[in-house]
Amino acid sequence: MEDNNFETLAIRGQYERTEHREHSVPLYLTSSFVFDDAEQARAMFADEIPGNIYSRYSNPNPDEFISKLCALEGTEDGIATSSGMAAMYCSMAGILSSGDHVLACRSVFGSTHQILNTIFPRFGISHSYADVAAPEEWESKILPNTRMIFVETPSNPALDIIDLEWLGKLAKKHNLILNVDNCFATPYLQNPARFGAHLVTHSATKFMDGQGRVIGGAVLGTKELIKQVRFFARHTGPTLSPFNAWLLSKSLETLAVRMERHCSNALALATWLESNQDVSLVKYPFLASHPQHRLAKKQMRLGGGLVTFEVKGGIEQGRQFLNSLKMISHTPNLGDTRTIAIHPASTTHSKLTDAERAAVGIMPGLIRISVGLEDMKDIIADVQQALKASSPKSLL
Ligand SMILES: *Cc1c(COP(=O)(O)O)cnc(C)c1O
Repeated sequence: MEDNNFETLAIRGQYERTEHREHSVPLYLTSSFVFDDAEQARAMFADEIPGNIYSRYSNPNPDEFISKLCALEGTEDGIATSSGMAAMYCSMAGILSSGDHVLACRSVFGSTHQILNTIFPRFGISHSYADVAAPEEWESKILPNTRMIFVETPSNPALDIIDLEWLGKLAKKHNLILNVDNCFATPYLQNPARFGAHLVTHSATKFMDGQGRVIGGAVLGTKELIKQVRFFARHTGPTLSPFNAWLLSKSLETLAVRMERHCSNALALATWLESNQDVSLVKYPFLASHPQHRLAKKQMRLGGGLVTFEVKGGIEQGRQFLNSLKMISHTPNLGDTRTIAIHPASTTHSKLTDAERAAVGIMPGLIRISVGLEDMKDIIADVQQALKASSPKSLL
């Protein structure tokens, strides 16, 4: 991956100071803004001159957060949203119309599945899924009414990688909008716009905040597409609060150093797990054993903060592993300073059948760990004692 001045942009790319000469970005907790005169009010409402009117439309804090994020992702424009799902929804509903078709990777986030499977059909928007592991089937699934390709890479929770350069070319060839949920990688590890993505969507709740404090999201992309998404978001209302935007902007300042450590800790845990006899499969994009290791290295700066592995045995051993953890948190979030573990087969993906789970790489004993920033010795010690306590031998 190319090098850029990521850290400087994330720390110094802030608004000009106000007359108070503050060093840090101020917080604008105001629902509306005052007009100088009737003519200015008319011109602002008519979009003839820029300026803040009402915080559902725009506010300095979400604007400052987004302008930094655009610089980090290499996109022309963007809009901050109240959650990652608001970003996913607006990035599709703001652009697609009844009769359109979306081609998505099968392993999208659970709520994105609900939008595609349950909500969009009510508005006449259809979809098909294609497998990350079978790139040859994607082109044949493009229909005359396909308008958008929606993917996540690395995928959740199987950590499969989609070739973004190949996908960018496929989208270009068929004149489709390529929309990439870049939440797992963050702009520090991967910039889909460089490979031809027209939209880059984020849950800012995860590594971007990184401290388990806020729900937020962002849609970034070309000026033309963001104009449509902004219109949709302004009038339907899922925009980001100034306070959460202020927190997220502060978090961007430390994203690079946090991601460096998340990734080195995750690689250390994955390497340790590979040599453990109670574990049957370890998946981490930067492990040489990952089936798409070379592709991951080509499009990602580092391997990310998530590791998945299979506890030998099955669903019961997976559950027992979680019940045995002492320090590591058992919670559905990810991308936190605190290490978090979850057993997808009995929680986040429990509504799928065994066959559906297998199709997205979720084996019965699969554990997903979001590796935090605690001392590595403590992370490994907790995983080690929980593996011992859940090993089929100790359950006999
Ligand atoms: C969490 C997550 C989302 C949804 O984000 P929220 O902020 O929870 O609404 C979307 N995509 C991925 C990949 C996620 O991990």
